[in-house]
Amino acid sequence: METWKKILSQSVTDTDQLAKIFGLPPDELRRVNAIFPCRIPKTILKRIKYAGDPIFKQCIPAPAELHSDNDLMDDPLGEIRFKKRDVIVKKYPDRCLFLVSGECAMYCRFCTRKRKFRESFNVTRTQIDEGLDYIAKHTELRDVLISGGDPLLLDDDKLEYILKNIRLRAPHIRIIRIGTRTPGVLPERITAKLVKMLKKYHPLYLNIHFNHPEEFSPQCCRALRRLADAGIVLGSQTVLLKGVNDDPEVMRELMWKLLENRVRPYYIFQCDLIYGTEHFRTPLKKGMEIMKALRGWSSGMANPHFVIDLPGGGGKVPVVPEYLIDQQHSGFLYRNYCGEEYFYPDCE
Ligand SMILES: *Cc1c(COP(=O)(O)O)cnc(C)c1O
Ligand code: SF4
Repeated sequence: METWKKILSQSVTDTDQLAKIFGLPPDELRRVNAIFPCRIPKTILKRIKYAGDPIFKQCIPAPAELHSDNDLMDDPLGEIRFKKRDVIVKKYPDRCLFLVSGECAMYCRFCTRKRKFRESFNVTRTQIDEGLDYIAKHTELRDVLISGGDPLLLDDDKLEYILKNIRLRAPHIRIIRIGTRTPGVLPERITAKLVKMLKKYHPLYLNIHFNHPEEFSPQCCRALRRLADAGIVLGSQTVLLKGVNDDPEVMRELMWKLLENRVRPYYIFQCDLIYGTEHFRTPLKKGMEIMKALRGWSSGMANPHFVIDLPGGGGKVPVVPEYLIDQQHSGFLYRNYCGEEYFYPDCE
């Protein structure tokens, strides 16, 4: 058995075990687990330094998940409304999501698809073929985002079947993107064999998910190096999480860690309004404060877009701190990153 499969098969799903390790109330954890199951690779569990550290908060069930807030929903992104096939979600003119896997290496407690942990859904070959048919038929598409779950939990040959068929049957697809958290939570998945297969399907972009500088273990860095060396363009997504990374210093360091590992920061997401994630919510102002602390103060390369995926299915909108102070007929008055005012004379 490949190492990554072995690690996966030994993941911790029993909250009594967690309660014992961290001295937590077993009954409450069991109640959380019944609604939002947990799954943690032992390799990640070992990296938790103390109860409440950034890795702990992302993967250990918390009693707070049982408190619900009226603003929180099961499907905040309205993905059910935009579903074109069982596995295709299309909201934008030229791109769609292709949800090819229902599994993840680790269940993140703040996950947008938390509702799916319960259904433990399995993607069938028929559904994959329906998705491929859709992509082949819809020539307006230029970009397919292979997502899930985590697409890299599929076996190499299943994943290759998808990539190969997109390339063979949909010449209008100009880039393929894969979204995965495996480099951070199951770096053993990034095998030489996998990378050799992936690089046959260029131009290929891989968007990885990192939320804290502590997540960069030597194994993660090696996995990222292997991907970058294969010419796969790496981008990142980060979810803004209270108590994990809602701090300009932490976020700045995270952006630098990504860049050092040849990953271009792409998005910071405002946490979606999912049931059972209230304890992770930050006010929008916090994100703006973080973006202000990045812009100008850190390399432009370390500046991703901060976005909200609008509830109800509105899609992503950028949230940008205000730099414009005044608009006059002759031009615009701005405040720069360190608070000084400058005038830009505009033309007719
Ligand atoms: C996020 C998302 C995309 C990709 O958006 P980009 O801004 O192009 O990265 C595409 N489709 C859906 C439904 C999405 O939620
Ligand atoms: S890896 Fe992504 S899809 Fe999977 S549980 Fe974490 S946030 Fe959700």
